[in-house]
Order: sequence, then C-alpha cells, then structure tokens
Amino acid sequence: MKFISYGAAQQVTGSMHLLELDNGFRVLVDCGLDYETKKKSLTDSNRFFDFDIKSIDVVILTHAHIDHSGNLPNLIKQGYEGQILCTTPTYDFCTHLLMDSVNVQMSELNKNNTKGKRRKPKATQASDLLYTQKDVMETLRRMVTFNFEKEVELAENIHFTFIPAGHILGAASVVFNVVENGKETRFGFTGDLGRNDANLVVNPMVMERLDYLVCESTYGGKLHHDTQSPEDILMEHIQATCIDKRGRLIIPAFSVGRTQAIIYSLHKLYKQGRFNHINVYVDSPLAIESTSIYTKYHEYLNDDAREFLRQNGSLFDFPLLFEVENMRDSEAIINNYEPCIIVSAAGMVEGGRIVEHVYNNLQNPQSAILIAGYCAEGTLGWKLKQPDASVTIHGKQIPKYCTIASTDIFSSHPGHQMLVDYVKRYDATTLKKIFLVHGEQNSLEAFQVALLKEGYPVEITVKEKVYALK
Ligand SMILES: [Zn+2]
Repeated sequence: MKFISYGAAQQVTGSMHLLELDNGFRVLVDCGLDYETKKKSLTDSNRFFDFDIKSIDVVILTHAHIDHSGNLPNLIKQGYEGQILCTTPTYDFCTHLLMDSVNVQMSELNKNNTKGKRRKPKATQASDLLYTQKDVMETLRRMVTFNFEKEVELAENIHFTFIPAGHILGAASVVFNVVENGKETRFGFTGDLGRNDANLVVNPMVMERLDYLVCESTYGGKLHHDTQSPEDILMEHIQATCIDKRGRLIIPAFSVGRTQAIIYSLHKLYKQGRFNHINVYVDSPLAIESTSIYTKYHEYLNDDAREFLRQNGSLFDFPLLFEVENMRDSEAIINNYEPCIIVSAAGMVEGGRIVEHVYNNLQNPQSAILIAGYCAEGTLGWKLKQPDASVTIHGKQIPKYCTIASTDIFSSHPGHQMLVDYVKRYDATTLKKIFLVHGEQNSLEAFQVALLKEGYPVEITVKEKVYALK
C-alpha cells in the first residue's frame, strides 16, 4: 500500500490525499481548493492535477469546507468517472458551497478583467472558470451518502468507515481497513477535527486499532486562550459596544460552522434575558442556507444542542434575529445607525458583504469588530488585527478608530493541547506512523516536537512524496 499527499502538505488548504493498494486500487481522500500556492489567480493554482485522474477508483469526502471539496467539479470535468462518498449533511452543504464557489470565481475573474483597464472588460468565458454550474450539478449527482460508524465495502480487500470528527455538522474522520497478503492494515485520516465541548457539534471520536494516522495540524503550537464560556465572551463585547456605547458590533464569520455557533450563543443569551432590544443581522446568504441544514440534521448535533432544540423549538430563531437575504437589505443596515450586531462572511474579511460593514464602521469609535477565527497572513482580517493605525480598503487608507478585538472561542479546530490530547488516545506502541498535514510549517513543527516527546513516530508529510507502507 502507498500513501501520497497532493495537497495540504506543508500548508493548510487544498486537501487531497491518495491511498493506493498493491493491486492498483486508488482512493482519493478530499479534493479541495488550494488558496496558498500563489499563481496569477485561484483558477490557475487549481486547474491541473498531479496524478492520472482516470486511475482514481473512488473519492471519499471528509467534509464540505471548500478547501476539502472545492476542486471536485474540476476533477469530474477533467474525466473522473466514479462516485464521491460522504455523509448526508456534507452533501447538503456542498449543494450550496460548490455553487457559491462558481460565483466567487466569476467575480474574481470579472475583477481581474477590469483591473487597470479603461476599455470595455472582456466577458467572462466558461473556459476561464475552473468549472461551471453544470459541472457542479454533475458532481452532486455522483455523491453517495453514508452514515457514521457503518463499515462499507469499497472493493474485496478494502472497507471504510466514517467516524464523527466534530468540526462542522457531518464532518468525518475516515478509517480504511485493507487486507493485503493475508494481513490487515488500518489507515485513518482525521479530516479536520473539532474542539471538545464546541457549540452544536459532537466531540471528535478516535478511530479504533490504527496502524497509520494522517492528522490535521492547523493549530499546532497555538493554544486557544479563552477560558470563559462563548456566551460570557460575546456578552462582554455586546455590553461594551452595543449597550455602553450604543455602537455596532461587527463579527466576521465563516458561513458554515462559525456563524451557526455564534448565532446559537446569541440565542442562549437572549433566552437567559441577558440582552434585549439589540437586533442581530445575519448578512450572508450562504450562512442562512447552511443554518437550515443544522436544523434539518439535528440528530447529528451534540446533546446540549439537541436538548436546547427540544426545549425551545428552534436552535437559531429568536425575535431579535434578522436574516439579510438581498443586497438592498444589506445596504439598508449599513445606513441604519442603531446599535446592533452584524454577523457576516467571509471570515477572513477577504471579499463578501463583511468588507462593506468593516469599511463603514472602521472610523467609528463607537463600533467594534470582533475577529472570531483564524485569519491567514495577508488577509484583511489579519491586517485588522495588526497594530498599524490604518488599513487599505477599496484603494483607500482607512484609519482604525473603532475597537478591534479577537477570540478563539468559536474556532472549529482544536488548539495545540487539545490536538496532542486527541493523539494521546492512540496507542504509541502499535501506531507505526503519524503523517502530519494541514498546517503551516511552524505549526507542523511544534506539533511534531510535542508528539515525539510523547513517543509517537511522526513525520511531516512532503507533497507528492510516495510513502510505501509495509
Ligand atoms: Zn474544515
């Protein structure tokens, strides 16, 4: 058996890993968009695959986030003929996320086509895009869904099982049971893990009796610092901004996972009577669609969320919550200066409606921006957190007069210590190797050092290196 990583090796995005059996059977785990290999555009960085597409027998998708799923329609467009296996919530999220990905590509291309040119921009051609809506439709048609903890036969000598990973609704770790030359080998991929006791989702479960583990490392070396509950942290910001200063609290958040965790906490605060008369706006169509999927698949939620749903009849709906569907309503809340809370995407403030809210509130000392998640270096979210007195938005230098704060409490990944504790649930004497993926170099190294100290055989995965497993 061989393991080869084609993406998210020594970086975070573009998850794409291959498991090849001795008889040539090939499984691709995830097929995500790479945002870090900087070529001219996202399309250029992701157009080509470094393996023979037609040789892939089956694709397994761990979860819907676009850095894990976003290149599937391109794989199909270029000739992949098989199925894509995933959990049911993952399928539902993909129906929205993959269509949204086409729109994001179109707007990026339109932006590049008009940049610095006076003449009429050239029209965006279907061939300029990585894939079209038609390719997305075909991708969705190929998806087949499976439940957690049910072993499924892929071929005579290989079975797989989805194991709950936390992270976002329906996110899975996947364990393969392979029999070669009469010998059984168990190979596990964590996918993206969640943190323990997260809002809404279950704690990550370990995979039993593993020989090999491919483990995510996003927060290697980075501790989550928050010790208070998510509700207490949110309430401090609501008090300081919306109540004491009668200002606006702007929260950039990813559409799938982060937004729902925040709205759930706000609903709890409302039920506890801790704030009233302050409207909450969810200004992201993708987040609104994703929110309904959390309610639809409530059996996948953790005990706390299911009990809350049973008692209140809804996870997210409360009288102060408003979903902002169209751009006209989004502009209307920009021009309304009542104290309020605005939760909007994208999480790293790179595009999306959140940019306008940041632009319009940055110079207002009564407003606050609460960064609620990981922001890659160079993104506007990251620039907001830096000590510089101003940032550039829409080509203008804007001074930072509002409060800018951040919290890790809504992060959908485990921090360093939680990652180490997760791995410690595996037996160091029987695990033959841990391959680290999905992390920046300093995170991978810090995580590797911590695991070596615990006696685990651990290696930082190198892109396209062939690991022959005995
Ligand atoms: Zn993810």
